[in-house]
Amino acid sequence: MEQKQALLRRLPAVDRILQEPVLRDLQQSLPRRLILAAVQDTLDEYRRRLIAPGESKKDQKTGTVRIDLAPAALAVRAAARAAASGRPSLRRVINASGIVLHTNLGRAPLAASAVEAMVSVAAGYSNLELDLDSGERGSRQAHVEKLLCDLSGAEAALVVNNNAAAVLLALHTLAREREVIVSRGQLVEIGGSFRLPEVMAAGGARLIEVGTTNKVHRRDYEDAINPHTALLLKVHTSNYCIVGFTAAVGAAELVSLARERQLLVMEDLGSGVFLDTTAAGLPFEPRVQDSVAAGIDVVTFSGDKLLGGLQAGIIVGRSGSVDRIRRNQLARALRVGKITLAALEATLRLYLEEDRARQKIPVWQMLCAPSSSLKRRATALARRLRDIIGLDSVEVLAGVSKVGGGAMPLADLPTFLVALTPMAGDAAEAAARLRQGDPPVIARLQHDRILLDLRTVLPGEEKILAAAVVKSLPPPCGREKGQEL
Ligand SMILES: *Cc1c(COP(=O)(O)O)cnc(C)c1O
Repeated sequence: MEQKQALLRRLPAVDRILQEPVLRDLQQSLPRRLILAAVQDTLDEYRRRLIAPGESKKDQKTGTVRIDLAPAALAVRAAARAAASGRPSLRRVINASGIVLHTNLGRAPLAASAVEAMVSVAAGYSNLELDLDSGERGSRQAHVEKLLCDLSGAEAALVVNNNAAAVLLALHTLAREREVIVSRGQLVEIGGSFRLPEVMAAGGARLIEVGTTNKVHRRDYEDAINPHTALLLKVHTSNYCIVGFTAAVGAAELVSLARERQLLVMEDLGSGVFLDTTAAGLPFEPRVQDSVAAGIDVVTFSGDKLLGGLQAGIIVGRSGSVDRIRRNQLARALRVGKITLAALEATLRLYLEEDRARQKIPVWQMLCAPSSSLKRRATALARRLRDIIGLDSVEVLAGVSKVGGGAMPLADLPTFLVALTPMAGDAAEAAARLRQGDPPVIARLQHDRILLDLRTVLPGEEKILAAAVVKSLPPPCGREKGQEL
């Protein structure tokens, strides 16, 4: 015990550590309070190590403590901590997972024109709610409404914070204290936080489930209609598929039933696709314009899934219903900001020409990336990494990428993976080091290997990725893990 107290007394004082050149230099670029906190945390860490059993034992031969208590040693450690805490918490990462729309990684990366539009609008003032022709107050929705109507064929459009908000707002407006009929097979849960029955309850509407998990018929809807019914709701099962013996009621049939009974039909499409996915070799995904053409009154979808834009919830449909939704007080609480509108407008403009959308929107570039180019990129990265110490093997393997983001769950996109087997330490540790690097790299882990899928690595990130991988490799043999504190 006494020995431990003596050791603790040998720890340098805060001020002494702060005088070390490495920390004095850092004060040029980092707030002093971050550096001070890093020094205090470092001292705490050393205290814990010194009093931990076994750690304070003296080296038999030299009679010195194994832990280096020199101010310079603590300063180096504190500098690393301070630098880490000085980095923004939310920052760019390299997505080498091959999951194109990774919700944890912020879903869709934006097209260059969308990024430019956002930066320009954010950095200065804008005509967000000013009609430049008349000089009068304008609507923030005006910047995207015409584009959305042109692309979808709808009479009116409205943008809110996300698709969950769009569904909530539409139900609250059109079906509060009334009944909404939904097929049992379409009661989706997306990402754990969007659960249709709960959104329905939050919107004040009563859910009436019809049909069975795998089958629903027109007569099921018919039988459930009563004077309390407000609308028929169709929900795209975007993150699962019911296969085998199934039956569903198509948009056109629901619309004809709704018209007969003077009800409204709403469809939650999820992804928001304007392009023909089958032409790109992807599974069929319903398009917004097809739902509108079928006569659905209100269609909702996300801005940051297959649309490839920023987080937003888009409502398109017939003007009677959309105008009612617009007038709901909740719409004010769910409204979008100027940066979202700027990014959305620029993204939608790309869709005015389908080829341009496919070529300029990163999500579509990634989904349509030809296998030959994926192979070439993987081979080039493997070549870069092959001769590097710390890797047992570097291979290029055939594998699959996923669409992700709760879209096209069954689609396996053939790809080529760079598989790395770290020489020392296990692959999970190496993956953690990749994640904790700067920039962080998100890789896939499979048994004792790390897999890198270049499909989701943006052009221009490849060199940085290679450097990040090299930096994260286990130290060359001879230097044991944990030798330096
Ligand atoms: C993704 C999804 C949602 C939620 O959309 P967010 O934009 O994430 O709020 C709702 N419904 C369906 C069918 C979806 O696929």
